[in-house]
Amino acid sequence: MDNSYMPITELCNPFLIRTCALIGGEWCESDSKKYFPVINPATGELLTNVADAGVEEARRAIVAAAQAQSNWMQKPVQERSRLLHAWHALVLKHSDDLALILTLEQGKPLTEARAEIAYGASYIEWFAEEAKRIYGDIIAPQHPDQRIMVIKQPVGVVAAITPWNFPNAMLARKLAPALAAGCAVVAKPAAETPLSALALAWLAEEAGIPAGVINIVPSTDASAIGIEFSSNKLVRKLSFTGSTRVGKILIQQCAEDVKRITLELGGNAPFIVFEDADLDAAVAGAMASKFRNAGQTCVCANRFYIHRNIQSVFCAKLIQAMQSLTIGNGVASETKIGPLISRSAVKKVQSLVDDALKKGARITYQADLDKTLLAIGSYYPPTVLNNIADDSLLLTQEIFGPVVAILPFDSDEEVAKLANDTDYGLAAYCFTRDSKRIKKMSEILATGMLGINTGTISNAMAPFGGVKHSGWGREGSHYGIADYLEIKYICEQI
Ligand code: NAP
Repeated sequence: MDNSYMPITELCNPFLIRTCALIGGEWCESDSKKYFPVINPATGELLTNVADAGVEEARRAIVAAAQAQSNWMQKPVQERSRLLHAWHALVLKHSDDLALILTLEQGKPLTEARAEIAYGASYIEWFAEEAKRIYGDIIAPQHPDQRIMVIKQPVGVVAAITPWNFPNAMLARKLAPALAAGCAVVAKPAAETPLSALALAWLAEEAGIPAGVINIVPSTDASAIGIEFSSNKLVRKLSFTGSTRVGKILIQQCAEDVKRITLELGGNAPFIVFEDADLDAAVAGAMASKFRNAGQTCVCANRFYIHRNIQSVFCAKLIQAMQSLTIGNGVASETKIGPLISRSAVKKVQSLVDDALKKGARITYQADLDKTLLAIGSYYPPTVLNNIADDSLLLTQEIFGPVVAILPFDSDEEVAKLANDTDYGLAAYCFTRDSKRIKKMSEILATGMLGINTGTISNAMAPFGGVKHSGWGREGSHYGIADYLEIKYICEQI
């Protein structure tokens, strides 16, 4: 297997590697002169060191955003749209470099990294157009001598916090609607993956987006930055993508200032295959949903409910498909599964598997890891588990690794109840050819998003988001810009 990787210096445009915070158009070292390492999870090697911003830098970035905000919101929408289109074009132009940076810091295979760059860019393009469609209303008045008008205005400065699993797209999905609505942004990317965020911001600058409209504060002090973002009165909205645990902390912190908050949190997606399903389509859907990003996505199938009568055929077909998953460094062309984000992520997946095994689960398939990958410690082999006890932790927690948990069911009512028996409600998947069943499941599954006969649901035109502990608000689609707008009602006496 070719496990060689391209060093960072082999990028077509080395300027894309930014290692400083971006504050008010200046690339700044941290006040404390502290740096933190960015590690390639595929090899354990150091990629580079990045300036470690603290609360002071976050404050300065918020002030810079507030100063940039007033000019930005007053720009004609056509101009904001043009700048977003220019940024989109630059992201596409540099997509190979951006994908390589993403793979090096995050670990996903290059083909998936390219797909993420295209996916992130599609939000920039989508909201470049939505910027032109921020409509108000004229409403029929109560009295003939009154005029009732509704206008939409940007919420103000937005603070954004993003995770490591989609370091480009999760940020693009926040920056694009915020900028389209007329908001300036201060963002903190995950400490594991700051380079993708910084590269995206540099391209925005190159595209002509004015200084201060996008500010990035990479930091290892997430909780301090989170407190500043939540409590600083210049910030009018916080948009967070990450775990439900941190989401709950941010809700509490934002309560004091009654700050608007959008939360894209964790999931525990059920993947239901009914007896009448096209099993080849179900296996293709399972492969797409479960193994993208080595199982580290919020919409990953977490619990596979397979009708008892087809369970053994489904498992045999799935295991056959899984045998083609080459594990390795994401930069190698044959790699289909890269490393997990870190050794501790591997330990967490292993602890969930151990808990299931202790309670009676059986491993029906597990890929082999070669010695080199084992020694690196950040790889987890694709695994199938059967005979899983109801109280196994992997049924209530996000596995966040390439582990398939198979559970049998006998009736529609039973499986709907099992699927909904979770605090989460982000994504769900159903495979069936029965139109009545499709209608019924669409209505009764408690989820923000439902894939019917597909394992791939994300796109910029659609509202992405969850219910229950999976979050508040939607990203993408025409709903996605609403979260960055205030509604103002004006009553005019004529
Ligand atoms: P995480 O631990 O919640 O971290 C997410 C971000 O929050 C990171 O930037 C992290 O910074 C920061 N953070 C950590 N503690 C914080 C605090 N006390 N205050 C403010 N910020 C804080 O989540 P993760 O492990 O990176 O990401 C995986 C999670 O994200 C999963 O639960 C996944 O389902 C969810 N996710 C949801 C969606 C969605 O659209 N619903 C999409 C992608 C991922 P550091 O990295 O520096 O700690």
